[in-house]
Amino acid sequence: MLEQLSSLIELQRHDSAVDDLQTKVNAFDPRIAKKTAELDSLRTSLKSSKDSLTANTLKKKQLEGQVDEQQKLVQKHNAELNSLKSNDAYKAMLSEIQAAKKAVTDIEDQILVVMEAIEADDRKFKEAEKKFKSDESVLKADVQRLESEKAAALEVVSARKAERDAFAKTLPAASVTQYETVRKRGGEAIVPMINNSCGGCHLALTQNKINEVKKAKAAVYCESCSRIIYFPAPTVAAPAAPAPSAAS
Ligand SMILES: [Zn+2]
Repeated sequence: MLEQLSSLIELQRHDSAVDDLQTKVNAFDPRIAKKTAELDSLRTSLKSSKDSLTANTLKKKQLEGQVDEQQKLVQKHNAELNSLKSNDAYKAMLSEIQAAKKAVTDIEDQILVVMEAIEADDRKFKEAEKKFKSDESVLKADVQRLESEKAAALEVVSARKAERDAFAKTLPAASVTQYETVRKRGGEAIVPMINNSCGGCHLALTQNKINEVKKAKAAVYCESCSRIIYFPAPTVAAPAAPAPSAAS
């Protein structure tokens, strides 16, 4: 049994090494996501400034068309004035002309506002474009570098995992299965007894369990966390007892 326990401890060392390597692989994901989000935000701000510029340019064109219409109306009414016979009709036509002229002034004011917006949009677009040009390639290169570093780290995991599996194959299948079942619950599956307690969950063990662990004739399971408990061999680092303090 002792030999089997030390083999399982060795297997656990393999598993912990694989887990550590996998943690390193996983750490790439948020970094890649952050760079990708930065790229997306660059694209979004470039697009939104371009969209706003396009919309305002179109609006300006529409307003200019309206000015044109009103001016044509003024010309048309001016030409019609001479043909009018009655004073009232003449007056009515004059007020129509006034209204059209007023509309022209109002629309021209709106055009000025839109032109200011276009100027601001254009500035924003150029800034976004400049930032995009300078940052896009850097960010893309960063993402590419992180992706290839992650791929390399994954290869290391696979190699280490293969090493672990090869070692596991040399152990009795039943005890590996038992170990894996406990390990699946998370954390270490096999822990040392520390100060007569479970090294995993720190539950104080009964005297009977302590004896069983020390005898190491069969796997002893913690009643609380189901981990396999072993009695550390002298070579396994156990917390050192504090040195007796010098007499004062
Ligand atoms: Zn426990």
